[in-house]
Amino acid sequence: TPVIGVLALQGDVREHLIALAAADAVARPVRRPEELAEIDGLVLPGGESTTISKLAVLFGVMDPLRARVRDGLPVYGTCAGMIMLADKILDPRSGQETIGGIDMIVRRNAFGRQNESFEAAVHVEGVPGEPVEGVFIRAPWVESVGAGAEVLAEHEGHIVAVRQGNALATSFHPELTGDHRVHALFVDMVRANRTPESL
Ligand code: GLN
Repeated sequence: TPVIGVLALQGDVREHLIALAAADAVARPVRRPEELAEIDGLVLPGGESTTISKLAVLFGVMDPLRARVRDGLPVYGTCAGMIMLADKILDPRSGQETIGGIDMIVRRNAFGRQNESFEAAVHVEGVPGEPVEGVFIRAPWVESVGAGAEVLAEHEGHIVAVRQGNALATSFHPELTGDHRVHALFVDMVRANRTPESL
């Protein structure tokens, strides 16, 4: 069973732990560099990306996170977590950094303010069956992707899910819906990645 960490600096950590467990992974919160060595995959939760960025630097995990992602650790970021995986933010706040890993440019709060949050059915490439219920809360969208990144979903012409190699990102929050298919997709990515070693 793959062990998947959830970066537990700020945001909806608990919801991701529950969703990952429901998708047959062993899930645990991680915040220290040493803990990063013990996981097969990592989720970057929704929350507030500037806060997560600053806490990651403060806790000394930003550079270790970058190194692990560069080495191919499977990662999944939702909303603020998507922003953390972007190689570039269109409108960063001062002092805001990202881990990077996906060749994309994101626009923060692109869908509007907190009170303009909404839900919409989203078809996600690789998720079988009915569309996913997308929960968008002050969500970013992806302005553009580079050649290496694959668009998995759009909403009203805006890119809201992207994959590049072992990195997956969604503007929306499957961890809030009780539908664990997107987490299952990620757990499959983690399993596929660790198969060679465990054979
Ligand atoms: N708007 C937030 C940010 O910039 C993201 C919101 C969310 O994760 N729900 O980080």
